[in-house]
Amino acid sequence: MPLPSIIAIDGPAASGKSTLARLLAEELGYLYFDTGVMYRAVTWIALQRNLVIEDEAAITSLAQSIPIDVRPPSEQDGRAYDVWVEGQDITWQIRRPEVDANVSPVSAYAGVRRALSAQQRRIGQRGRVVMVGRDIGTVVLPEAGLKIYLDASAEERARRRYKELIGRGEQADYEQILAGVRRRDHIDSTREVAPLSIAEDAMILNSDDLSIVQVLELAREMVNQASKAG
Ligand code: C5P
Repeated sequence: MPLPSIIAIDGPAASGKSTLARLLAEELGYLYFDTGVMYRAVTWIALQRNLVIEDEAAITSLAQSIPIDVRPPSEQDGRAYDVWVEGQDITWQIRRPEVDANVSPVSAYAGVRRALSAQQRRIGQRGRVVMVGRDIGTVVLPEAGLKIYLDASAEERARRRYKELIGRGEQADYEQILAGVRRRDHIDSTREVAPLSIAEDAMILNSDDLSIVQVLELAREMVNQASKAG
């Protein structure tokens, strides 16, 4: 029985989607594509160019015009891929706190979503892909053969983000991170266009109290089930 060719993983910020998707894609020999990278890249470039984040027209036109290139990793510094825009490697810049703070308003703009999700859809339709985001199973690739909604409490997600930053030698404040996670959840799930929501046919996986090995094991079972059902 065929494995699902398109696997969508959605869920709130820092729920562990990227780690799960990367490991699952590696096991299956699929492409791992993290769509958050595209919203982050637009946000970083907008900040670099001193665009006003509230200026919807300017941000939308930026999203429509900059080619965002996601390539295999060129360095072994913990990255899963390279992100290049206009000859610049911005892989780590897009993880900065100022991007975290501004990416949700940017990704709430309808025109930004239209521009980026069209590109994501093209990549996804080629198949053999694990695509990660907020609206992959609901909007970008509703035909996905397996949809996983990966959830975790805000506190657990903030703890993980805190550890990740400290692990990279960066400064971090847990309360601030928790407030940021909550703010992003709120904007992502209440925006008008493609809000974060659980697809009707998604399998829900709550990763509180689970190790990544356990999450991966459960996801594998879901892949097998989907392959039997398909
Ligand atoms: O997944 P990550 O936290 O890197 O995504 C950054 C932001 O991009 C999210 O907070 C969300 O606002 C936006 N996003 C989105 N739709 C996606 C992926 C990300 O709106 N498919």
